[in-house]
Amino acid sequence: MAGNFFRVRCPDCDNEQVVFGKASTTVNCAVCGTTLATPTGGDATFSGEVLETVEQRA
Ligand SMILES: [Zn+2]
Repeated sequence: MAGNFFRVRCPDCDNEQVVFGKASTTVNCAVCGTTLATPTGGDATFSGEVLETVEQRA
C-alpha cells in the first residue's frame, strides 16, 4: 500500500495540483503559495477541492 495521490484545486487561483495523500509536510500551491494540504500524521487534510483520486498501481 503506497498511498494515493489526489488532484486538488487551489481555492485561491484554481491551479490543479497532484498531492500525496499521506504528505508529511505542508503542501503549498505552486502558483500562489496557498496551503493545499496539511499533514495530520495519517492522511493529509486538504484545503482545496479534491477533484479526483489518483491511485498508485504497483
Ligand atoms: Zn493557488
